[in-house]
Parts: sequence; structure tokens; C-alpha cells
Amino acid sequence: MKADAGRKYRAYPTAEQDQVLIRWGHTARALWNVALEQRVYLWDQRRYTLRSAEQCQYLTAARTDLNWIGDLPAQAGQQILRQLDRAYDNFWNPRHSARFPARKKRGHHLSVPFPGQAVEARKLNRHWAEVRLPKLGWLRFRLSRSLGGTIRNATVSRDGNGWHISFGVHTGRKPDGPNGKPACGVDFGVSASAFVSTESAPRLMTPTLTANERKRLKALEQRKARQITYAKKHNGGAYSRRLRTMIAQIAKLTTRRANRRRDFTHKLTTDLAKNHGLIGIEDLRVKSMSKSAKGTAEKPGKNVRAKAGLNRSVLDNAPGERRRQLEYKCRMYGSVLVAVPPFHTSQTCAACGLVDPGSRKGCGRLFACTRCGHEDDADHNASVEIEARARLGAPPGRSLGEGGSDINSTRSTPKVRVPASGRRRMREAPTPAHAS
Ligand SMILES: [Zn+2]
Repeated sequence: MKADAGRKYRAYPTAEQDQVLIRWGHTARALWNVALEQRVYLWDQRRYTLRSAEQCQYLTAARTDLNWIGDLPAQAGQQILRQLDRAYDNFWNPRHSARFPARKKRGHHLSVPFPGQAVEARKLNRHWAEVRLPKLGWLRFRLSRSLGGTIRNATVSRDGNGWHISFGVHTGRKPDGPNGKPACGVDFGVSASAFVSTESAPRLMTPTLTANERKRLKALEQRKARQITYAKKHNGGAYSRRLRTMIAQIAKLTTRRANRRRDFTHKLTTDLAKNHGLIGIEDLRVKSMSKSAKGTAEKPGKNVRAKAGLNRSVLDNAPGERRRQLEYKCRMYGSVLVAVPPFHTSQTCAACGLVDPGSRKGCGRLFACTRCGHEDDADHNASVEIEARARLGAPPGRSLGEGGSDINSTRSTPKVRVPASGRRRMREAPTPAHAS
């Protein structure tokens, strides 16, 4: 019985619980670092791979010797070692993008994990519930949605907004069958957040901070920089209490910004997956897209600042995260996600299929085909082209609902036109992003 859904709630510890959780959070971080150090050391010295089953015995010994480790509940310590196993597994897995497990710094978000057997949750009333954690007692949390399953694991964490409790839950929900909804292509742009081929206007992310919040964030950051300079000059680098308060205020604002972005992304991907039978997206390499233009000392890059600004908007729009969400949501809501080769989608005419950079005169938002004269918003044109490519890449025998975008398409059977450079990859590329 594996956890197949996540639930996260705002937690409200008492003053004593707050102190205990902060202490545990730092212990958990230190334990992760020590355990990682031990594994690295053993590998370096003896080419020996240490796993959690064995490391748990060292943990038990350490818990009797060292008070600060003994303070952390045993199950939490063991869970951390199992998580380290997972981090190594992901690193070894060539299909996973994880890098070598990193050490956790002091500024890292605090979090204490527990296995599902160690916790017990109960509902207090319509809006509140509490969870019993080992050695801590009952911790209250705001029941903003129902759990809907069996708890498989629990994690208490803290960010700029305060404490949270998250559960890995086994819901046993079966994925929907094919939903028979229309197909669409989505162009995730930089200026427009997402342009869906069946719609006439882009879906834009509203500014994630209000004007006042932006102003306040800027002022706080300036004050922080000033105070750090002062601390270095007169205080031996020690942070004052005022400076720490300010850092917490900045964290609150940046957390809020991140939450709003996440909210937008989730609503967008849920809506796309629920209301479409086939979704085409560009198969983009986010890492190379957002690479710095800095270059090397011998060969300095051009337009470094401009690229940095573009990177910020690319990452603002979180293309990798949107794809990840679409993958599991499409599976859940009976839709098919197809990642199509991204070559020249923005220069290809969706009506006649001509690839010509000249169709994007002046790099504006307008697309005007140099052959057939087809005119459209450039991002919408790209999304129609993505849809056409996705239909070709869709798995056979997949019945699609009618009524997809035919606003601009005069072609009955869309053809994929890929320039020579992309042809080789095209043959392998248009596979459904998940198999099921
Ligand atoms: Zn054309």
C-alpha cells in the first residue's frame, strides 16, 4: 500500500511544541549530514555501500551515546536514513535527474519525517484536526481538505509562513478511463503564460506580488544588504536580532509569491487535464533553456543581463513543474499527454506548414505567413502547430473527441514539418509522455 497522493495542512504547534520542533528540525538536518558523511567515507575508504538497514544500528548506538540524537524520536531518525536511501537510488537511476545527495545547510527549511505507523490523526470538528507525533503529543492542524485515505507517512516542516504537516496518503483511487474530450496544444510562452490552441486568448499568470508587496520586498532587501555590510564591518559578521527579523519578513513575502505561483500552475494543469483528451506540449529542455549566457573568461557571452531576465521569466513560468503535473494529472483524468519536438514551432505556419523565420517580422507577437498570408497571434499559431504534431504522436486506437481546434486549420490531416536538423530526433521523439 503505497502513498499515491499528498496532503499538506497548516499546523499550529503550541509554544513548547514549537521549541521542540525547531530543535528536532536541526537535529534531523545534522543527522542527514552525518549519515551522508558516513556513507561517503565508507565508499571512499573501502568501496563499501552502506544502506539504511545497517545504518539504523549505528543510529541506535548513537542515540544512547549522544543526547542530542537521542532527543529525536527513533522512528524519525530511521525515516531520515530511508530517505537517504531514496536519494541515492534516484542518483543512481540514469532516468532520474537527481544529483548526488546534498548536505543540508543551516538555512535549509526545517523538516522532520515520520513513518505512517508512528502517527495517528483524528478530526476535532469541521475545520480542525490533530495528529499525534511520537514524544510530541497532539499537534493541531487546519483541516482545509479531507485526508481521503490511509496515512503512509507524515512530515512536519517549516517555511517562511510557519509550520505545516504533510501526509503521504494511500487513496486507492483508480485512474479514469479515456475521457473523450477534445484535443489541444499548449504553448507555454514567456510573455503569455500559456496559450491553448482551442482558446482565443492566452492564460496569463496574474502578478504574483501586488505593487505594494513588491515595493516592500525591495525595501526590505535593501535594508538587509545594508545591515549585513554593517554587521561585517562592526559586529564581526554576527547577525543582529533585527536583521534576523527582517530576513524572516523577506521569507514570508517570497513564500507567499511561491505559493501563488504554485496555485496558478496547479489550477492551469488540472483544468487542462480534466477538459482535454489529448494535450500536446513542447518537449523542451529546461536546463539548457535557462543556462546562463555568461560564457567563460576567455570567451565572454553576449547579452548576459537580457538572458538572465529571460531565464527569470522561463523559471517563473516553471515549465518543468507544469510538465510533471500534467503527466500525473493526465493519467488521473483519462487524458493523454504528448511531448512533441519543439523545432521551429514558432516559425511554422499552422495553416500551410511553411517554415520561415520571415513570418515573424520584427519578432513581434504577430505571425504573418510569407506564403499563404495566414495571420495569427504568434503564440496561438504555435499552439495550433503543437496540437497538430501531438495528434500525430498520439498512441494509435485512441478515440478522440471531436471539436478540437479548427479555428485556423484548413488541413484535414496535419503533417509534421520538421527541418532537417530535427528530423532524426523526430523519429524517436513523439512518444506519449507516459505509458498507460
Ligand atoms: Zn502559410
